[in-house]
Amino acid sequence: MKIAVIAAQGDVEEHVVAANKALRKLGIEGKAFATIDKEEVAESDAIILPGGESTTISKLIHKSSVAEEIKKAAREGKPVMGTCAGSILLAKHGDEEVRKTKTKLLELMDIWVKRNAFGRQRESFQIRLDIKGIGEFEAVFIRAPAILKVSSNVDVLAKLDDYVVACQQDNILALSFHPELTDDTRIHEYFIKMAK
Ligand code: GLN
Repeated sequence: MKIAVIAAQGDVEEHVVAANKALRKLGIEGKAFATIDKEEVAESDAIILPGGESTTISKLIHKSSVAEEIKKAAREGKPVMGTCAGSILLAKHGDEEVRKTKTKLLELMDIWVKRNAFGRQRESFQIRLDIKGIGEFEAVFIRAPAILKVSSNVDVLAKLDDYVVACQQDNILALSFHPELTDDTRIHEYFIKMAK
C-alpha cells in the first residue's frame, strides 16, 4: 500500500513516520512517503494532508495541480485524511477568516470549519478525547480549527465543547488535532484500514 503525505508545508515528516509505524503494526506491506508530485499522488492508495498553514498549503497544492489529484482520488473512494490545517482544506464551507484570506478549499466534505477556533487562551493544548471507533485518545491541538456544523451524511467521531473535532464522510476523515505528534498510531491504523 502506498500512502502519499502531501509535502507542501507543515508537519509532513511526522505523518510519514506515524503512517509507516502504523503499517508495520498492522503487518501491511507498504510505505508512506512525502510527495507533492502529481503522478505519485495519483498512484497512491491513500492520501494524508498534514497540518501547517492552510493558506500556504492551499496555494502550493493548487500551484502544483496536486489539488486536482487529491480531489480525483477522493472521488474514486481512496481514503483521504486531513489533520488540522488539512481538515480546513477538505471542507466545503469556510468561515470569515478562510474567505478573507481567499483560501481555496478542496470542497470534499459537507462540513463548516472555523479557523483558529480555540482562541488565544487555548491556542495549543493537549486533551483526552473519546473518539468513536478508537476510544480514548490524547489529542494535541495547535492553533486548531473546529468543525462548527456537519451535514447528516457526515459521521461525528469526536467532540470538544460544542465543536466537532473529528468526523468522517465515507472515505474522508477530518481531524482538528494532530494525531502524528504523539506515539499513539491508532488513528493512522484506523485510516489505513479504511483503504482495505
Ligand atoms: N491555524 C492554522 C490554519 O488555520 C492551522 C494550524 C495547524 O495546522 N496546526 O491554517
